[in-house]
Amino acid sequence: MSKRDYYDILGVSKSSTAEEIKKAYRKLAIKFHPDKNPGNKEAEESFKEAAEAYDVLGNEEKRRKYDQFGHAGLGGNSGFGGGGGFSMDDIFSQFGDVFGDDSVFGSFFGGGGGRGGSRRTVGSNIRIKLKLTLSEMRSGVEKKVKYKRMVQAEGVSYTSCKHCGGSGVVKKVTNTFLGQMATQSACPICQGLGKVIESKPKDANEQGLISQEFETSIKIPGGVADGMQLSVNGKGNQGPAGGSAGDLIVLIEEVAHEDLQRDNNNVIYHLWLSFPEAAMGASVEVPTLDGKAKIKVDAGTQAGKILRLKGKGFPDLNGYGTGDQLIVVNVFVPSKLSSEEKDILLKLQESKNFKPDEKEKSFFDKMKDIF
Ligand SMILES: [Zn+2]
Repeated sequence: MSKRDYYDILGVSKSSTAEEIKKAYRKLAIKFHPDKNPGNKEAEESFKEAAEAYDVLGNEEKRRKYDQFGHAGLGGNSGFGGGGGFSMDDIFSQFGDVFGDDSVFGSFFGGGGGRGGSRRTVGSNIRIKLKLTLSEMRSGVEKKVKYKRMVQAEGVSYTSCKHCGGSGVVKKVTNTFLGQMATQSACPICQGLGKVIESKPKDANEQGLISQEFETSIKIPGGVADGMQLSVNGKGNQGPAGGSAGDLIVLIEEVAHEDLQRDNNNVIYHLWLSFPEAAMGASVEVPTLDGKAKIKVDAGTQAGKILRLKGKGFPDLNGYGTGDQLIVVNVFVPSKLSSEEKDILLKLQESKNFKPDEKEKSFFDKMKDIF
């Protein structure tokens, strides 16, 4: 399923400020709000789509990843709650940030009943490191990871919050230039949950959570690189009292390859030829990220020449083709010589063919510019 561009959805440009993005989302959220469009499926979809776009563009870190890698940068898993898209609860829990807990909007939609009330809190994110070989980064890979996360402990019991009477919100009437407005904010005692912990097991923390070993499988797209972060929604710490979970942030670390180095989407190999091989040509085997490849080196190949294996590099995360393997030719000069070898070389030294000519020198100058 192809996803629409988040900037298009919100009708903003890539250079829009955080404030402009928030404003654009507010407009759409009000326009497509289900309370304004009862029973209108299309409006509901637009409402959800806008919320998902804002979830990413309204978050500095997610926006940066999206700008860099598109939807793939969000782990192919953007949106709340993983593959299932957004739930209305998630969207309304987001409203506190967009409209402010104290805003007229919050009161307009939240105060009317039904939806207002207690809100769900979100658990914190967890960061883990994941080591990948260059081959895994090239092809993409599915990896099982184990880590500890906070989950709701068994046997936690709650009692209704006395401060807010279990509603999770505190209402107040304020005078504004539009007249008297009833506004509401999250209850400071229960943080908007509407309930407080009555009793909990000894090993649970004050939020009723315990640490637990967790295992999940992460799909890494081909083309990722060292230092990139992927986020997997909903695999972080659980929120207290059945709140939604935070994200699992996966930091990619490259495992160094014995022979190959990465340079953006290309992969570099330093090939060492003996002098006879460079002079007379040779067929040699070189390592690549998917096995070995045979290449032909022409007679008279200079040190510094770069040979190219097309498409043997990394796929571009944004779909702009695939990098190459670049083979940099080096010519080995022996540091020890037998007297017999020396005699041969002395003879060769006098030969006209062994004198560097101007044409070849200018070739080296050109190579210098490339590196
Ligand atoms: Zn309360």
